[in-house]
Amino acid sequence: MRKMSVAGNWKMNLTRAKSIALASALKDQVGAVSDVTIAVCPPFVYLSAVGEIIRGSCIALGAQNMYTEPEGAFTGEVSGPMLLDVGCTYVILGHSERRHQIGERDKFINAKLLKALELGLKPILCVGELIEERRAGKTEKVITTQVKRGLRRVKTAQMPSVTIAYEPVWAIGTGETATPQQAQEVHALIRSLVSDRFKSSVADALVIQYGGSVKAENAAELLAQPDVDGALVGGASLSAEKFVPIVAAARAARK
Ligand code: PEP
Repeated sequence: MRKMSVAGNWKMNLTRAKSIALASALKDQVGAVSDVTIAVCPPFVYLSAVGEIIRGSCIALGAQNMYTEPEGAFTGEVSGPMLLDVGCTYVILGHSERRHQIGERDKFINAKLLKALELGLKPILCVGELIEERRAGKTEKVITTQVKRGLRRVKTAQMPSVTIAYEPVWAIGTGETATPQQAQEVHALIRSLVSDRFKSSVADALVIQYGGSVKAENAAELLAQPDVDGALVGGASLSAEKFVPIVAAARAARK
């Protein structure tokens, strides 16, 4: 049986009422699914409300970012202990929108990842190349750098808590998806990098999600790839109607 994990990144979308309605619908429809890991990552301000709804179900709560420091004079930031306090299990780190729109660098992302692990949060480390980088044949170099720097100083014993999401930047929110072969190639690269840095059993156990315009129509063929262990879903995670079939595809891909 393969492991599978599907996370919904709601980004800066929905209202409090819509977040609650979506969480309730997901709880009703997939809240008892235990053979696939499911997480929802609403905006910070809706974490508590969504957490209340999904409490007691199999759906885990995740945040979209966190700061490196646990508390203090860091106006506008949200800390790991705060995420734990509102019931988060996961935290997305290094999302391409944060790398390329906010300017986050590998060193900062790595510092957050180490802090998340120290606190007992499970980071979802996002990596991915820009279209110019792919066209210039630099995908392997970019992914290698992001994975190596992102995992700097992570201990072998911490790796079971880490998920990596391969998200080609050109496929995020664009409707364009990597082909299953393109995804598989990069996922296999990521697994081999983790095998080299740690050991093969760590790499074998690692969950590597694909993200980039995943929807019900393309989920099955992406998830059928041997190194694609799930999906990080943006746009299609904003309604139960679109997200639930992706969870179903992940369940089917386990067999
Ligand atoms: C994402 O938000 O990480 C993502 C992959 O978005 P989308 O599914 O909309 O491309």
